[in-house]
Amino acid sequence: MTIRRRFFVALENIKEDEIVVQGQDVIHIRNVLRLGPGDNVAIFDGEGFQYRAEITSTTRDEVKCKVLSRDLVQNESPVEIVLGQSVLKGTKIDDIVRKSCELGVASVVPLVTQRCALKLKSSDQDKKIERWQKISLGASKQSGRARVPSILKTMKSIEEFCSHYANYEIKLIFHEDENSLRFSELERGDSAIKNVALLVGPEGGWTENEIKTAIEYGFRIVSLGPRILRAETAPIAVLSIVQFFWGDF
Ligand code: SAH
Repeated sequence: MTIRRRFFVALENIKEDEIVVQGQDVIHIRNVLRLGPGDNVAIFDGEGFQYRAEITSTTRDEVKCKVLSRDLVQNESPVEIVLGQSVLKGTKIDDIVRKSCELGVASVVPLVTQRCALKLKSSDQDKKIERWQKISLGASKQSGRARVPSILKTMKSIEEFCSHYANYEIKLIFHEDENSLRFSELERGDSAIKNVALLVGPEGGWTENEIKTAIEYGFRIVSLGPRILRAETAPIAVLSIVQFFWGDF
């Protein structure tokens, strides 16, 4: 089934033998793709299952489908990767969320750090999270992912992040300090790694204090070499390497 015919439906609209598509996708199915009764579509529930379904009826508000098959899709990364990403100016986080999804992240945690250029008002925060969740859903759909990465509620400090993920097996904070460990010098280990927590800073970088906090919680400082990457490039590079080291690249 092509990507164009793959739709997300929340579990509450999926019964054993019937799926009801609502919202924007209805217009897409009926008016853009011009599909109707008898046509097949693919549905995913964001929780790991994909369904083959046949459209049985359409109205202005919903498309009803009969379930033909239900399969567990196993294309999720074997390592659970959490990206603690300092919020950035403008819409840079939109792209980071999109690309992180493609690269197999399990969740993205936006962080308000000391040198963040963007001042997020709390009233704007929920809207932003909602927007990033939508982007995450779109990117998952596009990249054929079975699970939709969660965009967690913004954490107010690096300390909150570090203590929350303190028991993760691999914990790294990326910092443009030439003397710190290079990524290529990290031990990959022999046994499978279950979870990884990553911290990437804002345009202005981390403060000494933030680095100290991360170290206290067992995070290792890692360098991506002698060049400074832009804040929006760093997480993409980091995720690619993590998938290569411990994931499924
Ligand atoms: N403070 C810097 C720029 C920070 S870049 C300056 O203007 O001089 C934004 C983030 O990307 C950093 O906080 C870090 O997490 C990551 N980053 C960029 N280049 C890096 C490198 N060479 N090694 C490790 N992390 C890097």
